[in-house]
Amino acid sequence: MPDTAQIINGKLIAQQIRDELAVEVVEFIQNNSVVPCLAAVLVGDDPASQVYVRNKVKACEHVGIDSQLHRLPADTTQDDLLKLIAKLNKDESVHGILVQLPLPAHMDTDLVLQAVSPAKDVDAFHPVNVGRLVQGKPRFLPCTPHGVMQLLKRTGIETAGKHAVVVGRSDIVGKPLAILLAAKGADATVTLCHSRTKDLASFTRQADIVIAAIGKPEFITGDMLKPGAVVIDVGVNRIDRGLVGDVEYESASKVASYITPVPGGVGPMTIAMLLINTLRAAQQLEL
Ligand code: NDP
Repeated sequence: MPDTAQIINGKLIAQQIRDELAVEVVEFIQNNSVVPCLAAVLVGDDPASQVYVRNKVKACEHVGIDSQLHRLPADTTQDDLLKLIAKLNKDESVHGILVQLPLPAHMDTDLVLQAVSPAKDVDAFHPVNVGRLVQGKPRFLPCTPHGVMQLLKRTGIETAGKHAVVVGRSDIVGKPLAILLAAKGADATVTLCHSRTKDLASFTRQADIVIAAIGKPEFITGDMLKPGAVVIDVGVNRIDRGLVGDVEYESASKVASYITPVPGGVGPMTIAMLLINTLRAAQQLEL
């Protein structure tokens, strides 16, 4: 057993994916005379959201995808936001729409996300796309869970027959990830843990693959892992000394066989998957 886990370099893997995608985008443009386009909608001036949206828009440029950034003031009415989404739904030059979350408190997030056309829903948050995922017929895969699956696949980590313990059951990460891991093809045996799970460590210690999507800094420690486990840390938490994940890297990396760092693990993959979905959206509309 190694003393230190191998690092899964999400930055590098995401770059490989973006390079592959750039080639696919050029081919698509040549064959269809259409440039895939992502429209990002940002309401308000939350600093973290501004950074996320800017990074997404910049990432589009790097692979040859067009982008639009629609910035609305924090006091925009829900009706005005819905009108913008309706306009983007109809706009044939826009293939993907993303509404950056969180929305201001006076808006009904579910209602707004349901207003995005399922065919342009590149975050895969619309109930139609969630339903398709559950049925094993996804149109788009949700970005962060898809990014995790790609990290495992491209690192050569076998999931079939393995016990994967996912900690966190949110609609955007934990729940869809559990579905993807258990799906035919991935074939893991999945345990989904959450804040009401009793004796969490008794589950994580049985896991061949531990995925932490909790939002609590350095919550999963090395003593909660089986020696040789693969550890994927989705968490992004800002603490005094900078960004850390949901896994205590120092202790976990002494027990795990593979581990993702934070930053530079899952984060870069999420954006790469968004770009893939934007191209797929354009491909579906042009078929
Ligand atoms: P949510 O807050 O929506 O969900 C957190 C989940 O963790 C919930 O299911 C909650 O359980 C569970 N949880 C909370 N405390 C415990 C505990 N003590 N023991 C076990 N489970 C617990 O978070 P998200 O899923 O949106 O995000 C999770 C983390 O991933 C965050 O750090 C976020 O910043 C990061 N993130 C990173 C992304 C990336 O691209 N790298 C993208 C998206 C998120 P319950 O349901 O019972 O409340």
